[in-house]
Amino acid sequence: MPAELSCFEERCRARFPITEVIYNCPRCGGLLEAVYPPLEEKPETLRDLWRRRRMSNLPLDQSGVWRYREMIAFLDTFDHVVTLREGNTPLLPAPRAAAYGGLDHLVFKHQGFNPTGSFKDNGMTCGAAQAVRLGVRRVACVSTGNTSASMAAYASAAGLQPIIFIPHGNISYGKLAQALEYGAKTLQVEANFDQILALVRVLAERLGIYLLNSINPFRIEGQKTIMVELMDQRDWNSPDWIVLPGGNLGNTSAFGKALREMHALGLIAKMPRLAVIQAEGAAPFYNLLQRRDRTHLRAVHHPETLATAIKIGDPVSWPKALHEVVSSGGAVEKVSEQEIADAKAVIGLCGIGCEPASAATLAGIRKLTAAGVIPTGADVVAVLTGNVLKDPDYIYRYHTGALEAPGGHRLASHFGNNPIVVPNDPDQITRLLEAVN
Ligand SMILES: *Cc1c(COP(=O)(O)O)cnc(C)c1O
Ligand SMILES: [Zn+2]
Repeated sequence: MPAELSCFEERCRARFPITEVIYNCPRCGGLLEAVYPPLEEKPETLRDLWRRRRMSNLPLDQSGVWRYREMIAFLDTFDHVVTLREGNTPLLPAPRAAAYGGLDHLVFKHQGFNPTGSFKDNGMTCGAAQAVRLGVRRVACVSTGNTSASMAAYASAAGLQPIIFIPHGNISYGKLAQALEYGAKTLQVEANFDQILALVRVLAERLGIYLLNSINPFRIEGQKTIMVELMDQRDWNSPDWIVLPGGNLGNTSAFGKALREMHALGLIAKMPRLAVIQAEGAAPFYNLLQRRDRTHLRAVHHPETLATAIKIGDPVSWPKALHEVVSSGGAVEKVSEQEIADAKAVIGLCGIGCEPASAATLAGIRKLTAAGVIPTGADVVAVLTGNVLKDPDYIYRYHTGALEAPGGHRLASHFGNNPIVVPNDPDQITRLLEAVN
């Protein structure tokens, strides 16, 4: 029995060949997931194998995704895998952030250490491998953010043509710059995000372009390895809580699937709880969890947040994410622009740094400990999703007191660090530096 695509909807569960080019279930429209025959290996065998691969010079073993290839067995050969040595991201203890978050201890798993600076690389190496296997020449996504940057890099590295569709006049330059540099053909369409999604589906069919959007099940498989690597780094001891930001909720889906699969295999003894943090202006998943009727998600029509990576009003992976959060006994919290900005500065003061969306984790932890949901002594891992340099404009504005929330409201710089203009005069500079200590 080979790997297959399975409909995620409980009432359907239709199965399709792993090489079928479909993005939703053709029968019911549900989300798809990759499913595999049960692994034969014992947990000790897998742990030893994965640990030994860390010493190997083989590109596949050096990848923090493909090292764990037994957990993502959707290919029949690894000949066409392109790796930029994604994953391999560190666990960073952060006492100052822990104190700010109301915890005794806090560790960050920093996905910003990836080749293009975000966790999207963990998924994209798998999405690109599937594209090569399918024999397509072009891949596309709709995004102005980290997905574009990552897709551009992996597609170009694999010899595919990356095509990015973005709404005209809605460009975020930092991340777009990466996409241009990595050779993506970039089309600015005069339409909104949802219209472009529909357009791209038509074009994909007509031109044989493979879509690497957020619901792509192979990207989800790659993102699972973030959790496998985390457990490997912790010698297979589960934390109590894993905290992450939620946008399209692909990562939440991936983490939950990975944890369930590791638990079923006997690799971990305990299931951690998942805490998903959203920005107040883009919190449809938070709203869903507040309601008793969770059969459909009410989209936020004009999502607003400076944390652009989680500025999503209609998250496509919500059914999977709902299942994972509920079954893990988890939580969903929302945080304000001010809370995100201050938490981000605190993460910076730890010498770590991250992009705004990632800092929602620490802001959320602060609220969840204050509410007693996460106890002070809990073993918590927060996932920082993107690199500090993704959004330098935000940083400069925060530290100089010029950061404005989407409504135009000026945010306070509680941890501001304004550069000081000084004359070319050693005496004056000495007096100034003696005054600060
Ligand atoms: C994509 C992204 C997110 C949101 O992840 P989802 O899987 O869409 O919920 C958060 N932070 C960063 C930096 C991202 O690039
Ligand atoms: Zn179905």
